[in-house]
This record gives sequence, C-alpha cells and structure tokens, in this order.
Amino acid sequence: MSKLPIVTIPDKGLRSKNQTVTRFDADLQQLIDNMIETLREANGAGLAAPQVGRPLRLAIIWTLPEEDDQGNELPDTRELFVVINPEIYWSSRDTVKGIEGCLSIPGYVGEVERAESVRVRGFDRHGRKFRRRFDDWTARIFQHEIDHLNGELYIDKLTGPENIWTEEEFEKMQEARKEARQKEQHEPMVGD
Ligand code: ZN
Repeated sequence: MSKLPIVTIPDKGLRSKNQTVTRFDADLQQLIDNMIETLREANGAGLAAPQVGRPLRLAIIWTLPEEDDQGNELPDTRELFVVINPEIYWSSRDTVKGIEGCLSIPGYVGEVERAESVRVRGFDRHGRKFRRRFDDWTARIFQHEIDHLNGELYIDKLTGPENIWTEEEFEKMQEARKEARQKEQHEPMVGD
C-alpha cells in the first residue's frame, strides 16, 4: 500500500464527471487499498477517487468514532465503507445543519444543510450489491462524498456565503461561544 497525493482546489479534476466502475480487477483493489491508507493517514472521514486524481465513481467513508458520556472517543468504533457507483435513492425530508471540512480544501470549514438520513445503493469493492440506510454524521459523510463523484464540493452548498471560516477562526468562535455559555451559567441569580 502507498499513500497517494490529494489534489486541492482549484484542480479541474474535482469538477469533472466521473466514470462508472465496470471492472473490479486487481488495479481497482490496489487503488482502494491506497485510498484507505491515504484516508487513515489524513485522519479524514471520507475520500473520493477524484481527490486522488482518478475520475471514477468510487469513495471511501470512515465513520466517526463513538464517544462515551464524557465525550471520550471509544477505540475501534469507526466503520470503513468502500462504495462504488453509489446512488442516493431516498433522502429524509428532515435536514440538519453541520460543519464540514474537506481534504481538498485544507484549512477551512463551512456550514452545510443536509438530509438527516439517506438510503444508498451501490457496490462494494468486490462488485457485490449493497443497500443501506445511514443517519446523522454518517449520512452527511455519504452525501459529501457522493457530491465529489458528481463534481460538487461543500463550498457550493454553504448555508450562506459568509458561513465559511478558516479552522483557526472557527476554533476561536467555538471558544467564544463556550465562554459566553459559562458566563451565563455563573451569572448570580437576581430576585427570589
Ligand atoms: Zn471532500
């Protein structure tokens, strides 16, 4: 296995249409293994073939770890999916706003509204059909990655043109919000 270089905007490959995978051969298996290694090294949640310069309808999704009540990550709770020629054939009417980043847009995060749940069908790495429902953050990652296969990026779907920040700005915002909340809680009670 070897790590692949990840292309970043404004690389044209990120905007191109991608081809349906028709051969589940050794070359494809090699590409998948390399993409898995690349994703793990980058500690990302998803990676689509056009992000490593291959115009194929293939993406790797690595779900977020589960957390205990204190917010500590539980080991070995991330699930890895290889999805080929995926299609979202149902989306929930309920949507949810969330903060996304992208390995092809390093240093930035933005707010995007997505379906809370989706049903996806496609093929696994061996060409076997699969069909499954995903919710919450996993549904978000699937939507983000499948957008890549259609040449779309999260910056096309921001909840507002101003709702994109550098990681640094976003961290500061979070800190400020946290402080404001703590202040509120410590405000002496008046009355009674
Ligand atoms: Zn991305």
